[in-house]
Amino acid sequence: MATSQLPATMRACVLHGREDVRVEEVPVPVPGEGELLVRVRAALTCGTDLKVFLRGYHARMIVPPAVFGHEWAGEVAASRDARFPVGTRVVAANSAPCGACVFCEIGKPNLCRDLLFMNGAYAEYVRVPARIVAKNCLRIPDGVPAAKAALVEPLACAVKGVEDARVAAGERVLVIGAGPLGLLLARMCVLAGAEVTSLDAQPARLAAARELGAAHTVEAALTPETADVLKARTAHGLGFDCVFEAIGRQETWNGAVPLVRPGGRINLFGGCPNGSELRVDTARLHYEEVTLLASFHHTPRTIRTALELIADERVPALAIVREGRPLADLPRVLEELKAGGGAPKTALLPHLPDGARVSGAEILDY
Ligand SMILES: [Zn+2]
Ligand SMILES: [Zn+2]
Repeated sequence: MATSQLPATMRACVLHGREDVRVEEVPVPVPGEGELLVRVRAALTCGTDLKVFLRGYHARMIVPPAVFGHEWAGEVAASRDARFPVGTRVVAANSAPCGACVFCEIGKPNLCRDLLFMNGAYAEYVRVPARIVAKNCLRIPDGVPAAKAALVEPLACAVKGVEDARVAAGERVLVIGAGPLGLLLARMCVLAGAEVTSLDAQPARLAAARELGAAHTVEAALTPETADVLKARTAHGLGFDCVFEAIGRQETWNGAVPLVRPGGRINLFGGCPNGSELRVDTARLHYEEVTLLASFHHTPRTIRTALELIADERVPALAIVREGRPLADLPRVLEELKAGGGAPKTALLPHLPDGARVSGAEILDY
């Protein structure tokens, strides 16, 4: 196996259970057949990590004790796949489909019955499983910094969401929620030529939405009153051509439905807690031909599209990844996310000295 000089142990953030993350010294993983060991340059925080942190586990994705973090980029430190020699800069999706099940066969790999997930990015090194190396690991183009490339996974979800909703030039689109995914959806709609309205209660998030090209921002939570005001602003007061729910709460799913015009589409994009329910007047679907859809996850194709969008700056990653912190800060960063503040995404930078904090282009120096 080709390796560079590797230490025996490394620093990693280990999830032990509910709201229990510890920074520990653990063995450096050893890559098996077809696998890679990657030296992490940047690992990004994600709403899914916060959910996992609060709950203490994720049935399909992570069972503690385990190193978590799933949005990352870095360089190959040990390789069992000749296509990715030591030193190659790579980014990968957090999952890969099996290629053999009925959903893979009908071209819906995001619904694969056997999606293989990976975690472990909040560490100095991460092991990439063979199936992900084979199907969803990409070489980072020269000149594209790791902290930007690490945005590939969430962006690939947004790419799929906007494609699924078939957003077209000139359409008026409402994006409910301006967290990381709401911002990425807004950006993809802007790139599709739509006139985007972003709705969020936090002014800092709306500033990011404007940076990404949202034509209108509305600082409010989605209530029936807000909905009336928003709808009154649309053509003939009929509603938006397309609406995205990017929060993942039962109330906002239900609140999104009245905001679309007859013949329009609603992408209920945010994942709700199990058991959440949507109530829709059948008249909206039948007499008004409203299309309800929901997009889940990403596909190997949208992962590749996402990297192209980041590489040519059509999606300016630093509008989302706004600060860099050392690995040891992860427990504190998760507390900040829990409190509802903080940057849309924070890059955990294993090479940043403890106690340091960087923002903007400085993030790219580590
Ligand atoms: Zn994520
Ligand atoms: Zn499959």
